Amino acid sequence: MLPLRLRWSLAIGAPIVADAGLDPTALGGWAPDHVARARGEHELRMAASEALAEAYGITSRDTLMAWARPRLQGRRELAHVVAAFSIATVAQHVSEDDAWQAIALAARLAQLTYRSWDELAATCEPVADDVRAQWATLPWDTELEVTLAEAPTRRFLRATCPACGARATRRSPTAYVYCDRCGNLAGYDFERACEQPLERPGPAYEAIRAELAGRLAEARGDLLRTRAVQRALFDAWIDACPGAVPVRIQDPAYRAAYVAMLAEGETRAAFDAEACELRTALDAAVAQLGFTTAGGETRVLDAPYRAMEAAMFAHEARRHALALAHGIYEMHPDRASPALIRRIGFSIYAQGWLPYLAEADAQALLARTDLAAAYEVAEPPATRAVRCPRCEEVLDVVVEARRVVCAHCGRPVDVTGP
Ligand SMILES: [Zn+2]
Ligand SMILES: [Zn+2]
Repeated sequence: MLPLRLRWSLAIGAPIVADAGLDPTALGGWAPDHVARARGEHELRMAASEALAEAYGITSRDTLMAWARPRLQGRRELAHVVAAFSIATVAQHVSEDDAWQAIALAARLAQLTYRSWDELAATCEPVADDVRAQWATLPWDTELEVTLAEAPTRRFLRATCPACGARATRRSPTAYVYCDRCGNLAGYDFERACEQPLERPGPAYEAIRAELAGRLAEARGDLLRTRAVQRALFDAWIDACPGAVPVRIQDPAYRAAYVAMLAEGETRAAFDAEACELRTALDAAVAQLGFTTAGGETRVLDAPYRAMEAAMFAHEARRHALALAHGIYEMHPDRASPALIRRIGFSIYAQGWLPYLAEADAQALLARTDLAAAYEVAEPPATRAVRCPRCEEVLDVVVEARRVVCAHCGRPVDVTGP
């Protein structure tokens, strides 16, 4: 039998593993005697691989780690993290030792985040009766013998909130920095954005645009129809790249306004001769790009890249002028300033290109877009736990907070109550 601390750790993932029809008390979901009775190790391995790919898009050690990292950092979906590492041992994505280490860490974070099995259960329902019976034998405050490395002091964007004037006192859970006093969008943390796995918003957008090219061509010259197709396009793009947009996108009203703003920018550009010319020049410059690979690193060729970057800035400048002329920035559902909205656009561009640039070009891009500026450390603020009334997640909010944006469901939450 496993030691208590390991049984306890594994039990964090039990609702998920049991729901998949597996044994939640054994690492991997199969007790040794079941493995012996199965038709073969290979079959189990294939079943585990398929289950992980289908549930989480995990297909390898690397994709498992990339998937788990933001969840461990954000202390969310920890039951799924434990279940995924457990099943990943059968899929042979990780060794049992590595899996136990990750499972113990996720379990310790869950123990610090919730106060009981019931609180954990609220985040991963349904919980089967036999899982509850198993939990009843495991005291919540079991010593897990996990020491969390002291979180290294990390720099972050100390954005000043344009609404209430407070400066951010801690790192934002996502690149979009919502004020932790009043819930207003206060900044965009480029370094934070770079930590998260990229969904490549550019290529996803181009693929959807290609799919809708016929409808766009039919709508040519017709403002209302162009606007409708552009809205459909951005709606599909948000589904493809949820990580590129603010967490508030989960609110349907917010999403509709956000889509309307993006679509209006494209629509106005389609009816502006200068923007169309600059866009054609940009497309031509993109077509000239070339890449080299040396020592396992892929780099874009300097000269055509610089020409493309110049064309991008020229196009963006015209789009900025159009946005000012047509009141497009005012359509932003967070009422973000034009400077902040442009910063977000530059940041997404830079995130995509920095890995392919030589150092000098990378530094020049960061300087020109002001993305490297003003990252600082700060003393962690005093916080308290508040449960989000919409999604029931436990939020760690600064003591002075009046209103925050829930990092899980994206809804603004009034936290002035007890
Ligand atoms: Zn504020
Ligand atoms: Zn919430």
